[in-house]
Amino acid sequence: MDQIPQETIVAISTAPGRGGIGVVRLSGARAREVVALLLRLRHPLAPARARFAELIDAATGSVLDQAVVTFFAAPHSYTGDDVVEIAAHGSPVLLDHILRQCCANGARLAEPGEFTQRAFLAGRIDLTQAEAVADLIASSTLQQARLAARQLGGTLAKSLAPIKSALVDLIAELEAGIDFAEDDLDVMPSHRITAQIAAIRAPLHSLERSFAYGRVLRDGFRLAIVGSPNVGKSSLFNRLLDRDRAIVAPTPGTTRDTVSESIAIEGIPIEIIDTAGLRNATDQAEQMGIIRSHQTIAEADLVLLVVDATDSISLDHRAILPANSNVLIARNKCDLLPSRNLPEHSRSDSIPAPVLLTSALTGEGIDSLRAAIVAAVAGPALPESAMLTNLRQHQAVQQSLLALDAAHAAITTRIPHEMALLDLYQALHALDTLTGATTTNDILHLIFSRFCIGK
Ligand code: GDP
Repeated sequence: MDQIPQETIVAISTAPGRGGIGVVRLSGARAREVVALLLRLRHPLAPARARFAELIDAATGSVLDQAVVTFFAAPHSYTGDDVVEIAAHGSPVLLDHILRQCCANGARLAEPGEFTQRAFLAGRIDLTQAEAVADLIASSTLQQARLAARQLGGTLAKSLAPIKSALVDLIAELEAGIDFAEDDLDVMPSHRITAQIAAIRAPLHSLERSFAYGRVLRDGFRLAIVGSPNVGKSSLFNRLLDRDRAIVAPTPGTTRDTVSESIAIEGIPIEIIDTAGLRNATDQAEQMGIIRSHQTIAEADLVLLVVDATDSISLDHRAILPANSNVLIARNKCDLLPSRNLPEHSRSDSIPAPVLLTSALTGEGIDSLRAAIVAAVAGPALPESAMLTNLRQHQAVQQSLLALDAAHAAITTRIPHEMALLDLYQALHALDTLTGATTTNDILHLIFSRFCIGK
């Protein structure tokens, strides 16, 4: 790729507000020149070295602050350009002043994400890694940070590499078969082609399935706790929260409004909403709460239906659940059951959902409940493997799978290989959009190097 001279960009890289230290970052060929005009350095900047500097007030010529300045020489920097970071004291006024001075000296304000965009354009990271940078910064649980860090380290890109190279191999062989069929070069038999497509499809399919877990780990989900009054919804809510947040009272109908809290189970952020009891309310405030409960249920990713363990689960319960909702049933107050002949995990006959025995009072079954909540939305955890974490990635993999299926169908219905090739190119293109790479040259290179065609 031709190197277009880049403008030098500048931004405050630390969070807004006051802090011990605030960092202004510059990237571009003129980064050093720009900072030299506002700093007095004791020693000249050197690659990957921190230097002490005084920040000079242009208006008065006096020292405004003392800073540590670090220089990263192109191409060994985050962006691939020359990068200079000024770590001054974290006063918003001071940092803003540095920013303005840098702009006055020829830099321009960076767009959001522009440093990372430059890293991508310079080929230092692929698109999945660029996305991981944003995810790492946005993570609110350590588990999310770990997932982002793995993706930043290239797990996703690495797991795609063998899939892509198998696809490129297949394309190359088919291309050669078509171009040189008249030269009696072996054209691959159909069964070998379909076998190769299947071999490419399998790992791609598991990657596609990983999205269920990857998505909820990245974005979290909403859990609504519903059920008749007095079955222990608020108590369970508090148990899941591990502290007293919702109002618990022995008289039915005390949870008038919805109460929500965020918790993390297995590192997955979950917004738990405790709803008003679903029954025919007598007063207006309670009625309002019940209307809101129905909305909450409709918007939740998972509904935890709480019933009294001493009652049976009736079809009435089903009436409060919207069709197709993802439901988990807790038979609470299991401490009151005379005998526990029900297995800890079972399924309800009247509502097709897993059933768990819990006691908000004694804490029995709460750990199983936590695990069941996560499993109901996220499916089994795949902590060590590569995962798709956003819709863009998921769509790219889905498109690739569809194109592979079309290629498979074309081969089995004996449509000329040219058509199947178009589908395979599409499958490859979809994977390229995932990492942001282009492969036309790669394929040409592969065709010519592998088949030694000297025509
Ligand atoms: P909600 O109206 O469904 O939110 O129910 P609450 O959480 O307010 O609980 C109603 C009553 O049942 C309170 O007196 C709780 O202490 C009691 N309770 C809740 N969970 C349990 C449980 O697991 N076992 C027993 N024995 N009592 C419980």
